[in-house]
This record gives sequence, C-alpha cells and structure tokens, in this order.
Amino acid sequence: KNRVNILGTEFDNFTEKQFHHYLDMDLDNKANKFIVTPNPEIVLSARKDTRFSKIINNADYVIPDGIGIIKGAKSLGTPIHERITGFDTLKYLMSAANRKLLKVYLLGAKPEVIQASADKIKKDYPQIDLVGFHDGYFKDAGIIAEEIAETKPNIVFVALGSPKQEFFIDKYHERTNAIWIGVGGSFDVFSG
Ligand code: UDP
Repeated sequence: KNRVNILGTEFDNFTEKQFHHYLDMDLDNKANKFIVTPNPEIVLSARKDTRFSKIINNADYVIPDGIGIIKGAKSLGTPIHERITGFDTLKYLMSAANRKLLKVYLLGAKPEVIQASADKIKKDYPQIDLVGFHDGYFKDAGIIAEEIAETKPNIVFVALGSPKQEFFIDKYHERTNAIWIGVGGSFDVFSG
C-alpha cells in the first residue's frame, strides 16, 4: 500500500477520483471494507491511544480529511495528492448506492437527526434501499450490530463521533460484507 505516515497515522495517497473508482469496485464485488477519515484532531488523539491508532492503521482506507493533513504531509517531505473529506465520501457513497440500487443502513446521531437523514435519502436518493436506521444513543451495541447484520446492507454509515465509531466498526464489521465508514457529525449537516 502507498501510505504516508503523519505522526503515526498512515494515510492513503491517492486522488479522490481513484478512491471513488476503488469504492465502485468494492461495491460491485460486495467487499468488506472499513474507511476512516482522520482529521488533525484524530491524528493527535490516536498518538495518545495505541488501541485507536492500531484500529486506524489496520483500516482498509485511511483518508486525509483536512487541509492540515495535506500541509503536514508536504512539510514532512512526503506530500499527499489531495484532501478527501468524510462528508464528500458520504455523498459519493449515497450517489453510488442510488445508481447501483444498493442497501444502506444509518447508525448514529440524535433521533431527530437520523430520522431527517432517512427522510432526505427517501427524497433525494429514491433508488437507495434504506434497510434500517438507528440513533447513536443505544445501550447494547451487540444488539444493534445484530440488527445491522440481519438487514444485509451494502453500506453502513456510522456517526458516533471518534473514537467511538471506529471502535464499533472494528468490533462488528467482519459480520457483514459492506463498506463501513465512520462519518462523525456528517448527519447533522446532511440532514439539514
Ligand atoms: N453521537 C452519537 N452517540 C454518542 C456520541 C455522539 O450518536 O454516544 C453523535 C452525535 O450526535 C453527532 C456525532 O456523533 O451527530 C458526531 O459527534 P461529534 O461532532 O462530537 O464528533 P466528531 O464529528 O468530531 O467526530
């Protein structure tokens, strides 16, 4: 893998166009993939948390979400092609799911935010098969993971904030061949 190390976090170094091409192939192959989109804040918190750092570096895609990452890479003499945000990746995956008639599951955010996100999908991405959604304030993660697996999604968006969402995906994603992505506060923006 062509990765660039920024303070311990190993970022993929490709263009957004190449990344989207890989995602299209993964969706067509029903591959099981884990995407993390660290910003500078996450890089710094991973430096202090070995478990979190390992989870990030073992993910299938580690995407530079923030101009600070691009600037840091350049100043270290190991430039990265371009910034790719989690939010833009969410939007790309939504349009790909709409185009390919895929199953999507949404997890996280407040109840009214996730409901509004589900409504937006039904309106703006009518060909997505929204197989389920749940807010991010649950007690038993195992039950939620079971529910997700039963719906057999192609894409699972997890918005629990970091590192909670990465811990969740790391623990449960092997059960379901899907693209799993931690999207932080993206539903708060997507739903509005
Ligand atoms: N969130 C959640 N469950 C939690 C904690 C947070 O669903 O136990 C949601 C919160 O509602 C928000 C999202 O996680 O929609 C991201 O939170 P935050 O902005 O704190 O994280 P970041 O985007 O900085 O990773």
